[in-house]
Amino acid sequence: MRSVKCVIIGGGVVGASAAYHLALRGESDIVILERGPMQGIGSTGRATGGVREQFGTEINIRMSMHSIDFFQNCEFATGYDPKGYLFFATERAALEQLKLNAAKQAELGVKGIEILDGDEIKRRLPAMNCEDILGGTFGPRDGFIDPVAVMRGFTKGAVDRGVKIELGHAVRKIIVQDGRVNGVSTDKGDIGCDAVIVCTGAWSRELAATAGVDVPVEPLRRQIVWARCKSEIPQDLPMVIDAVSGFHFRPAIDFWEPSKTSGVGHDILFAYPDREETPSFNTEFDNAFAEKVYELARHRAGFLFESKPVMEKCRAGLYENTPDHHAIIGGCAVDGLYFATGFSGHGVMHSPASGRAISEIVLDGKASFLDVSSLSLERFDRGELLTETGYI
Ligand SMILES: Cc1cc2nc3c(=O)[nH]c(=O)nc-3n(C[C@H](O)[C@H](O)[C@H](O)COP(=O)(O)OP(=O)(O)OC[C@H]3O[C@@H](n4cnc5c(N)ncnc54)[C@H](O)[C@@H]3O)c2cc1C
Repeated sequence: MRSVKCVIIGGGVVGASAAYHLALRGESDIVILERGPMQGIGSTGRATGGVREQFGTEINIRMSMHSIDFFQNCEFATGYDPKGYLFFATERAALEQLKLNAAKQAELGVKGIEILDGDEIKRRLPAMNCEDILGGTFGPRDGFIDPVAVMRGFTKGAVDRGVKIELGHAVRKIIVQDGRVNGVSTDKGDIGCDAVIVCTGAWSRELAATAGVDVPVEPLRRQIVWARCKSEIPQDLPMVIDAVSGFHFRPAIDFWEPSKTSGVGHDILFAYPDREETPSFNTEFDNAFAEKVYELARHRAGFLFESKPVMEKCRAGLYENTPDHHAIIGGCAVDGLYFATGFSGHGVMHSPASGRAISEIVLDGKASFLDVSSLSLERFDRGELLTETGYI
C-alpha cells in the first residue's frame, strides 16, 4: 500500500493553506486529495472575496488581524484591496453592538476603526438612502481579496516545496485502528498515513462520521446576485453591510477570469442571508432570490434597484455552518485525525491563520502563534460555544 505522512482531504483554500504552512515548516511528505476535476469547485470559488477585522469575538478578530497581515505581505498575489467595510445600523441596539465590537477591536490592536454618524455615512455614500440609518462603523484595513488567487498561491507554494496534489481523487473513508488514524480509503485504493487533516468544508460531517467522529457542520445555501448598474460605481466603494438585515453589496470581480471581466466599473454583487433557507447541499441559483434581494434594494439604493441582473453570473454556494458560527480547528479523540473546517462563511479570509494553526497543531501539538483552543471540536461537548454578533 502506498503511504505518506499526511493526507489533506479537500483542495479548497483551507486545505491548500494547511499544506502550504506544513511545507513552510519543512514537512512535505503530504498529498492533498481533491475529488473535483479542479480546485475551487467547493465554496472557495463561489465566495464574495470579503475580508474584515470587524468581528465581535476575540478569536475571529485575531484570526483576521493575522490573515490581513499575511495577505499584505506574503510571497504571492492575493488581490488584497483595502477598500474597507462599512457596517451601518438602522436600530439602536445594532448600533450599540457595532460600537462595542469596535471598542473590542481597538483594544486588541485593530488600527483605524471609525465610528460614523448617519450624516457621515450619507456623505460617503450619497447614492444610498440613509434616512433610517443611525450610524455605523468603518474598518480601513478591511476590504477584498481574490479567493481563487489565494487558493492557487497557497497550492503553488506547497507544491514548489514538495507537496503533491491529486485531483479527481475522492476519499471514501478514514481508516482508524486502535484509536488512531491509519490511512484513507479512496476511489483509487487505500493510502496509509500517520495524519489526516479534514478540510472538506460543507462536506465534512459525513467524512468525519466514517471515523466515528461527529463534526457538527451543516451546509447552507448562500446566493449572490451579479448585476450591471446604469451609471459607473464609485471606484472607492467599500463593502457596505446593513448590520440588521445582512443586506450587502460590493463591486463585482470575476475571480476565475479577472482580466476578462466585462462590465468593470458598472457591475455589482449584492446579497443578503435569506432566513428562509434550510440546510441542504443545493447550489442552484434560484430566481426567486433575485426578486427578494431586489425588494431590499428598492428601499436602500436606487442604483441597485435599477440595475439589471446578469443571470449567467448570479451564483449560489454553501456556507459550512457550525452551531456557534466559528471554525473547528484541531484534533479529536482519534489520534492523528485533525479538522480545519466549519468556517461558517469566513474560510477564505481566515485561511492564512487557519493553515498556520493546524500546521502547528499537527507538528507541535498546539498552535503557538495564536491560541486557537477556543475553536476545538470538544467545545460542543463541553457546552463552551462562542457568540459572534458579526456573523452575516
Ligand atoms: C456565496 C458565498 C460567499 C462567501 N463569501 C465569503 C467572503 O466574502 N469571505 C470569506 O472569507 N468567505 C466567504 N465565503 C465562505 C468561503 O467560501 C468558505 O468558508 C471557504 O471557501 C471554505 O474553504 P474550504 O477549503 O474549507 O472549503 P471548500 O472550498 O468547499 O473546499 C472543500 C473541498 O473539499 C472537496 N471534498 C469534499 N469531500 C471530499 C472527499 N470526500 N474527498 C476529496 N475531496 C473532497 C470539495 O470538492 C472541495 O473542493 C462565502 C461562501 C459563499 C457560499
